[in-house]
Amino acid sequence: MLPRTLTPELVARLAPRITADGTETATSTTVFTGAPLATLPRSTPDDVAVAFEHARRAQLSWAATDVRERLAVFDRFHSLLLRERDLVCDLIQAETGKARRTAFIELCDPLLVTSHYRRTAAKLLRPRRRKGMFPLATSATEVRTPKGVVGVISPWNFPFALALADTIPALIAGNAVVLKPDSQTALSPLFGADLLYRAGLPDGLLQVVLGDGPVIGTAVVDHADYVAFTGSTRTGRVVGARAGARLVGCSLELGGKNPMIVLDDANLDLAVSGAVNGCYTNAGQLCMHIERLYLHESLYADFTDRFVAATRKLSVGGRYDFTAELGSLTGRNQLKNVTEHVDDARAKGANVLTGGQPRPDLGPFFYEPTVLVGVTPGMTCYDNETFGPVVALYPFRTDDEAVQLANATDYGLNGSVFGGDTARAEAIARRVRAGTVNVNDAYSIAYGSVDAPMGGLGSSGLGRRHGAEGLLKYTESQSIGTQRVQVMEPPRGMSYRTYARVTALLLRVLHRLRIR
Ligand code: NAD
Repeated sequence: MLPRTLTPELVARLAPRITADGTETATSTTVFTGAPLATLPRSTPDDVAVAFEHARRAQLSWAATDVRERLAVFDRFHSLLLRERDLVCDLIQAETGKARRTAFIELCDPLLVTSHYRRTAAKLLRPRRRKGMFPLATSATEVRTPKGVVGVISPWNFPFALALADTIPALIAGNAVVLKPDSQTALSPLFGADLLYRAGLPDGLLQVVLGDGPVIGTAVVDHADYVAFTGSTRTGRVVGARAGARLVGCSLELGGKNPMIVLDDANLDLAVSGAVNGCYTNAGQLCMHIERLYLHESLYADFTDRFVAATRKLSVGGRYDFTAELGSLTGRNQLKNVTEHVDDARAKGANVLTGGQPRPDLGPFFYEPTVLVGVTPGMTCYDNETFGPVVALYPFRTDDEAVQLANATDYGLNGSVFGGDTARAEAIARRVRAGTVNVNDAYSIAYGSVDAPMGGLGSSGLGRRHGAEGLLKYTESQSIGTQRVQVMEPPRGMSYRTYARVTALLLRVLHRLRIR
């Protein structure tokens, strides 16, 4: 079952956007049914080299174009994307199996990012006067220049958003991009690239390559001037080491084992609906989703009853409309991983309060939303990312204990605190060791506030997307220092001894006056 918009003609139009000699192909899967979805060419490492060559050529004139002119492309892209939103949701659903509600949220992400940098990029990128070494005699200017060609490597869970939301700021900053999406979920990012070209992106500036991560992803890292990687912690370590060996920068947006704390004064209705959203959105295949729920002992029983009831009520299904709240897992590997985590916990003594089974009656990769209690150290899902619709509940007594439990992980991507007294909840949020923490929400407010940076600590990664950093990471800073009056040598006729005395005096005065 495929939506009518997903035609062989569309696939045939998108396929040439991949830089590949066309000798090898791979077929992706329609997740709701397991049927073949699209056959697309696969790139070789030589194709990746060609993609970088083309991108490098196109980048030179793009970097020389005024930033306002560059931004006009993204204005048009924004309108086009809104116009094509139904087709984009169809593509995202077909290749990921997610619920349409989540596909629509996914589509909003590049829209928010585009609007944000549309407003802020010119200011962030313009040259800035800095204080010169000596007032009046010298000046300094900080200039931002693009890195060159950025390699963007993106995962399958939010294939459209994560490919585009990192590509767009890189392009706005004056770079070219070589994008390597996951092969299972390449149609929606390809359609995004197509939209950018339709919006007026110069030919060759955005290249798409496709193929096995360890081969084609590695080739991207080996050619790029900067790497924006989103994926697992395991692969992130490999990418970071390889980029480091070449002395090129990288941002690594990796996995999480994200905690949510429900304080004793939390509004239970709000906390339960926040937890349902946080644990099960995208069938739990969301880097920022909640896998550990810490509940104050005074509300543990009440919360658990309501949360389990709300979980049982969720409508799960594979439909290309907005009726289902939860979709499928994206593929066989993910289903295997989630099943193993739950079975392991069950075998070692955890209790399954609801869920805990695949749902082959709905489609080949569906899994029930699952609530566990009694998860202990030694169970795989205790401290490893499950990346599925599975959450473990734990009671706590004091705020300090909640913070300590939340921070008992190597990950540090996202956290959440629910509480009636917002100031108290925010104070606890600041103590949670994570790149984003949401108060009275699970993940979406901090992620959607694109004016603020988002990213991970520890095993959750390096660098940030969104905010000033999400644009400036794609630039080098260059400082231009200009000497208008000779100050670094004694004037003619002055001894070096006198020059040193005068300079020392000058430094003292500047320090006293707080000028330098
Ligand atoms: P993955 O690491 O297996 O793959 C991610 C991408 O890297 C894919 O395009 C893959 O082909 C490529 N790749 C694989 N091996 C490579 C290598 N050796 N060199 C270069 N590229 C390589 O991750 P995944 O399973 O696709 O994604 C799920 C993971 O991503 C989860 O852990 C999730 O938490 C994380 N994630 C993080 C964020 C974030 O913003 N922090 C967002 C989404 C997903």
